[in-house]
Amino acid sequence: MDKGKNFIEQIIDEDLSSGFDKSKLQFRFPPEPNGFLHIGHVKAIVLNFELAKKYGAKINLRFDDTNPENEDQIYIDAIKNDVSWLGYKWDKECYASDYFDLLHEWAVELINKGKAYVDSQTSLEIADQKGTPTKPGSESPFRDRPIEESIELFLKMKKGDFKQGEHVLRAKISMSSSNMLMRDPVIYRVINSPHPRTKNTWKIYPMYDWTHGESDYIEQVSHSLCTLEFKPHRDLYDWFLDQVVDKAKIRPKQREFARLNLSHTITSKRKLLSLVEGGFVSGWDDPRMPTISGLRRRGYTPESLKKFVTTAGVAKRENIIEMSLLEFCIREDLNQKCNRLMVVQAPLKLTISNYPDDQKEELMLINNPENPEAGSRSVIFSKEVYIEKTDFLEDPPKKYFRLSPGCEVRLKGAYIIKAEDVIKDSDGNIIEVVCTYDPKSKSGSGSPESQRKVKGTLHWVSCYSNVPVEIREYDRLFEHPSPGDFSYDDLESAINKESIKIFNGFGEQELSNSAVMDSFQFQRKGYYIKDTDSTQDKHIFNKTVSLRDNWKKKN
Ligand code: ATP
Ligand code: MG
Repeated sequence: MDKGKNFIEQIIDEDLSSGFDKSKLQFRFPPEPNGFLHIGHVKAIVLNFELAKKYGAKINLRFDDTNPENEDQIYIDAIKNDVSWLGYKWDKECYASDYFDLLHEWAVELINKGKAYVDSQTSLEIADQKGTPTKPGSESPFRDRPIEESIELFLKMKKGDFKQGEHVLRAKISMSSSNMLMRDPVIYRVINSPHPRTKNTWKIYPMYDWTHGESDYIEQVSHSLCTLEFKPHRDLYDWFLDQVVDKAKIRPKQREFARLNLSHTITSKRKLLSLVEGGFVSGWDDPRMPTISGLRRRGYTPESLKKFVTTAGVAKRENIIEMSLLEFCIREDLNQKCNRLMVVQAPLKLTISNYPDDQKEELMLINNPENPEAGSRSVIFSKEVYIEKTDFLEDPPKKYFRLSPGCEVRLKGAYIIKAEDVIKDSDGNIIEVVCTYDPKSKSGSGSPESQRKVKGTLHWVSCYSNVPVEIREYDRLFEHPSPGDFSYDDLESAINKESIKIFNGFGEQELSNSAVMDSFQFQRKGYYIKDTDSTQDKHIFNKTVSLRDNWKKKN
């Protein structure tokens, strides 16, 4: 379905029709390597990479690595891996840190032109002079210090002669601008921390605003797309460009779109980091995390994530998208792709008294009704099978269509059975159900008995032919619909304390052929993916999503 063009595409089209050379279009995706990418980033990735595809333009992956204290090579590697996994190839891998020399040169030029100065006040003093949106700020006593003095101090900052916070370099713009960000912003500060790439070369680091636009310009990015919170930064972006742009070159244009916000989760790298560091999850790729790596381990596919962000759309105003839309997208995708099989999560033994003791039957079951090419597989049926504990009730309520004494159900792909008796342990717990079966009712045999309608069909696994499995079932990590509103200190109170449940059950023998990251539909239950914690003898599955939306029912 062509929903028409989004507003960013309209902006680009207008630029093209007013003479912008199409071959000069260029985009970038600019993460800071201070954490793993999350579902919100998928939106920015898809937006930029799809624009590049659509317009036949180049796109860079650029790391905005200006805060060495928070950044790490681990994050750089994870980000590259995640973008590739989504199916995108970038033209160039760039780093803002590759431009540190040039950015420094330009900063010195600014000082020489009287457009920047070293301020020797504390950050508190500087903040006190900022004013308010309705009240102009006041000028620093160092604002008019001689150019040579600033140059000398800046050189000393660079050499590492000063401690963090002793001096900063500020652009000299205006202390009375109605845009607070224009009130002589800091552009360089001293940081005594090794950088993941430049190591110990630098003692001063450029601020994000100074770096970002200039990096766009250096790379000749034509359309620099960012999220709405950067809108007030646009004046500054333009002011910084004005200082360096050569008219013969492309002048990047910043435009803003709404962030993707998802209910019941947070999309802030720093808050996600606090979950990892606080031990609330097993790591960045915990299957409950909204990170790309967590979603991947949970069983989400690149196609489902792309479908999700595309359906959510590119808007100019913030909104919150329901988690159920994300779940809908993965369900649709896996329904087409996944083979079905049977897994009993909480087993109850069922014995068929009139079935021959030593008989084993090989049944052929269809792998995926949505995909004839998926073929079929053999499943062993036997006198003793496991069914789901929750599929038997001794005293069922009305309209209970599963197994109960005297009632008939079909064992999927096999026979119609009738419960005759139960065996209990000394505490009165049911440990076994004894049934009889109708030998003429075999599925697909064409006999009149096989066409008899019974109300329920249960999945099952033979006691003789199976694979023990561990199932990890997840619930939402946050009970609160908008945990993003919670502060760091309160975040814990928004967490769902029962977001993981572990089951030990049995699956069809077929599962012994499965590989890590293979996805299946476990019939009547949902979609599951084989987890990376699995070993040769231990088959562990993460529940991706249930077959239907259970959350709505529960709440
Ligand atoms: P975080 O607060 O999670 O660290 P960020 O905006 O600081 O997010 P960056 O690594 O700087 O993260 O972001 C890279 C790009 O992704 C930026 O262009 C940013 O605007 C975009 N982005 C980040 N979060 C979202 C989101 N929730 N929805 C859409 N785009 C996003
Ligand atoms: Mg950021």
